[in-house]
Amino acid sequence: MNEVDTFRAEARQWLEANCPRSMRAPIRTDEDMVWGGSRVRFSSEDQRVWFERMRDRGWFVPGWPTAYGGGGLGPREQRALEQEMRSLGCRQPQYNLGIWMLGPVLLEFGTEAQKLEHLVPMARGEVRWCQGFSEPNAGSDLASLKTAAVRDGEDFVVTGQKIWTSQGDKADWMYALVRTDPHAKKQQGISFILIDMTTPGVSVRPIELISGRSEFCQVFFDAVRAPARQIIGGVNQGWGVAKRLLEHERAAMAKFTEGGAPTLDALAIASPYLAAAGPAWRDRLAAALMDQQAFSLTSRRLHEMALAREDVSALGAIMKLVQTEQEVAKYELLQQLMGQQGLALEGEGFTADELAVCRLWLYSKSYTIAGGSSEVQLNIIARRVLGLPT
Ligand SMILES: Cc1cc2nc3c(=O)[nH]c(=O)nc-3n(C[C@H](O)[C@H](O)[C@H](O)COP(=O)(O)OP(=O)(O)OC[C@H]3O[C@@H](n4cnc5c(N)ncnc54)[C@H](O)[C@@H]3O)c2cc1C
Repeated sequence: MNEVDTFRAEARQWLEANCPRSMRAPIRTDEDMVWGGSRVRFSSEDQRVWFERMRDRGWFVPGWPTAYGGGGLGPREQRALEQEMRSLGCRQPQYNLGIWMLGPVLLEFGTEAQKLEHLVPMARGEVRWCQGFSEPNAGSDLASLKTAAVRDGEDFVVTGQKIWTSQGDKADWMYALVRTDPHAKKQQGISFILIDMTTPGVSVRPIELISGRSEFCQVFFDAVRAPARQIIGGVNQGWGVAKRLLEHERAAMAKFTEGGAPTLDALAIASPYLAAAGPAWRDRLAAALMDQQAFSLTSRRLHEMALAREDVSALGAIMKLVQTEQEVAKYELLQQLMGQQGLALEGEGFTADELAVCRLWLYSKSYTIAGGSSEVQLNIIARRVLGLPT
């Protein structure tokens, strides 16, 4: 047995012994997901146990160096661990924007002090991060952002507003884009800064949605002091850092079908309806499932290429576009098949799965906007993958 096979066998044994049975089922609801941070909440004892065991092993981030709280695994061991977790159906033990997006950027652009200060608590699930990029007039055109940061001694003083900040009311820290040079060309006057959400002058206002719930916030900065040492990648160098972070965001979103987000077994839900439907419906569903399978295999191929240190950064836009649009198409197909049973958000006479179809359909639409809209992904693909003139 070579070293990777030995590691694989040990990892499988460890997972079998340490991953509670209930943590080996697909994610169905938000309660199935544990978001790390100072206010971490568990909906079951098994969730807590799984979280703590994986944390102590450094396997929230198996590929990060042990000095920063990771598992210190090489690409081949990391791949073996992921394969074993997938084959046993183990859930992600922790969700955190920090780990998906900020962490890789800190590893690339951060100073040693910044890495030690932020990566270690992130890798232990102790700090929850939110993303402060979008502003009321800076969404797709992100470089138009206006939130200003002015140097004052050892600090920057931040004034302005962010919007659509997912889970901003639950986060401990924010990574944000701020304008540090109002006179430079718009991409060149931007810095990437980390802001402690408990700093005086930060106020967070949840945005109530039609569902009555709130996933997003507006975040206001009123002369908020953020130490200059919290700038990542250098003053006025934030655009390059942000572009890299968005690549990691697209990659994270494209992995949702790998069991990372609440989903439904489309075939199981469709089955009772299919019996009464004509063969054309079976064809449509089969085509959708084949597309999904093709996407899943392509996604794994890209993942392997990334582990082999190949540059797949531009391809992430294709994966993000296809994954999110496929999810919308899947739920719309289910709804057409189910008729009015697929349109309810609440009420009597529906199974839990039937009610979930409508909710997840609405969610799926939002994912075609978050992390850059589908139209923006098409622009990136045209420019960076196809090399078309702009
Ligand atoms: C679920 C969700 C979570 C989010 N979480 C966060 C978060 O945590 N932090 C954060 O900072 N932001 C977050 N956002 C905001 C998100 O990044 C923006 O909504 C997105 O970038 C689009 O910006 P916008 O809403 O201002 O739309 P606009 O940029 O105003 O776009 C409006 C429409 O015009 C189209 N359009 C714009 N420019 C072009 C172009 N050049 N070519 C073709 N079409 C174009 C768009 O595709 C869209 O259809 C989130 C959004 C969603 C839906």
